[in-house]
This record gives sequence, C-alpha cells and structure tokens, in this order.
Amino acid sequence: MKYHKIRKMDIVNGPGVRVSIFFQGCEFHCKNCFNPETHDFENGTEFTDQTIDQILELCKEDYIQGLSILGGEPLHKRNIEGTKKLIQKMKCQYPNKNIWLWTGFLIEKIKDLELLKDIDVLIDGPYQDELHDPRLKWKGSKNQRVIDMTKTRQEKKIVLYEIDKERVR
Ligand code: SF4
Repeated sequence: MKYHKIRKMDIVNGPGVRVSIFFQGCEFHCKNCFNPETHDFENGTEFTDQTIDQILELCKEDYIQGLSILGGEPLHKRNIEGTKKLIQKMKCQYPNKNIWLWTGFLIEKIKDLELLKDIDVLIDGPYQDELHDPRLKWKGSKNQRVIDMTKTRQEKKIVLYEIDKERVR
C-alpha cells in the first residue's frame, strides 16, 4: 500500500496542531474531490513500518495534539491493514493524543470493530458536491458526519462531535 503525503504540522484537519497522513488510492471518485491525485493506487510512496516510525516520531512533540488520517481512502481493502497498524501503534504509544479519520464509507458499513475502537473522531460518507458548503468545519459536504466515537461507543448510537457546544451540522 502507498501514501500520498505526510504533513508534519497540520492545523486544518482536526483541532490543534496535528500530524496528518494522506493515503493513496480511492475508488469513490466523488465529483470535484478535493484530492484527485490520491485516487490512483499505483502512485505515491510505499507505506512501511519505517513510515509508521516516522509518524510516531513526528507525534512525540508536546504541541502535537493528535494524528489525522485522510486519503485517498484509508479504509479501502488495499489500505485498511496498514491503517489499522498505524492506529494501534499510535494509540499504544500516545494514549492521550487523539486520532481523527476521514472515510468515504458510512460508519454503518464498517464491519471492523477492532479498527473503530481506537478512533476518537470519524468523519464518514463520500463528498457530495451538490451538498458542499464552505462554512462546514472538518467536512466538505452536508451529508458527511463528524462523529464523536468515544460517546458513540458509550451510548451505542451515533453521537456527533460538538464544537464549542455547537453541534456540527
Ligand atoms: S472519498 Fe475522499 S478521496 Fe475519495 S473521491 Fe471522495 S472525496 Fe476524494
């Protein structure tokens, strides 16, 4: 599997200063996707154990609040095992830092509960250009959901993540 790029300091994808990785390969082909160069599974750089070590090293800084995982599609069958390994190692090494993950799949379609247990916030659903609104935070279109996974696991129903007490619409 491959990745498109790593950002050492990302202040756009999730709260605070973060490390982010964009995986390579996506079959959703959403109209006007923000990242079309990530669609081809053959492009990008090989994702290896050394890549994970590099990400963990970048995350060690106190000012890094967490890790953001985007795509491409991190949960595509060609990418999911590497994504899981990264999440497990991140959670093990930095239990107090958070993990946000963006996927075109709906949470209801994700069967891998092992994967979901260590994610703090999941942004789900494909980007729908006709539902695009530039005022939305952390998502591109209104159909997507910013899901608080901790509360969702506790309450056993989907709970949206709240920003400054305002629910993300
Ligand atoms: S799921 Fe994400 S990366 Fe894939 S086409 Fe849609 S917006 Fe682009």
